Amino acid sequence: MSSSPTWPAGHRSALVVSIDVDGPYGEINHHGPDDSYWWSQAEYDLNAGIWRLLDILRDRAVAASFCWVGRCVEDRPDAVERAQDDGHDHAIHSWDHRHYARRSYEDQLQDAIRTVEALEAVTGQRPTGHKSPGWSFNDETRRVVQELGLLWQMDYARSDLPWIDRPDPDGAPVVQLPQSRFYDDYTYFVDATVNPRNAAEFWRDDLDVLRAEGKLMCLTLHPWVSGRPGPSNALANLLDYAISLGDIWIARADHVAQWWLEREATG
Ligand SMILES: [Zn+2]
Repeated sequence: MSSSPTWPAGHRSALVVSIDVDGPYGEINHHGPDDSYWWSQAEYDLNAGIWRLLDILRDRAVAASFCWVGRCVEDRPDAVERAQDDGHDHAIHSWDHRHYARRSYEDQLQDAIRTVEALEAVTGQRPTGHKSPGWSFNDETRRVVQELGLLWQMDYARSDLPWIDRPDPDGAPVVQLPQSRFYDDYTYFVDATVNPRNAAEFWRDDLDVLRAEGKLMCLTLHPWVSGRPGPSNALANLLDYAISLGDIWIARADHVAQWWLEREATG
């Protein structure tokens, strides 16, 4: 265990806003290409939702981490460019949102490389992290992330703090950042329909507990869901609350991961 402070000076806990840009591909894979009801809902992602979320983040000077489906990068490089101009972090979220859990190491690796290359072509920078499509992954996924030299992965829900992963003990460390279905907007606005004020209240209550314990909240939002008018207020409300507390480190995933590595290195 490290004896270093959990978070940078002056901060009691940390909040990462991660935004999964699935475009229509998540719903196409989930419901099938013939289910126009769902993929048409998700077309809101890049046409409308992402721009509203970008504005909310910009208005509050909050830097987030965008997890891109490779095909979305190809479809709308202008959205990637805007996110980059606004100072957000970039991560990969598979090529076309086909789930990873039953795919081989080599298949996942090629899928991830294609996505990395699409992002690099637009941003000129290497993405820093990985989140699996639909949180569908296996042990090979961790090896792929390490092989690609990515700094972080956000797939495991097992704790409220990061942990350092080395699938190959001789390879570079990967920081595992915790996800939770309770911090995923699907739970509130797709699997159910909740009043956005209640969603924000749920998140604020969780943040209070995590702040008291010195832990980490990683939100997972989708532009076609949280970019809708009412649900966008749930994010705005949580951010305004976190900012008002004055001691929440609202940080990009790569910055939290980098901090965690430095913290472990200094013991
Ligand atoms: Zn997704």
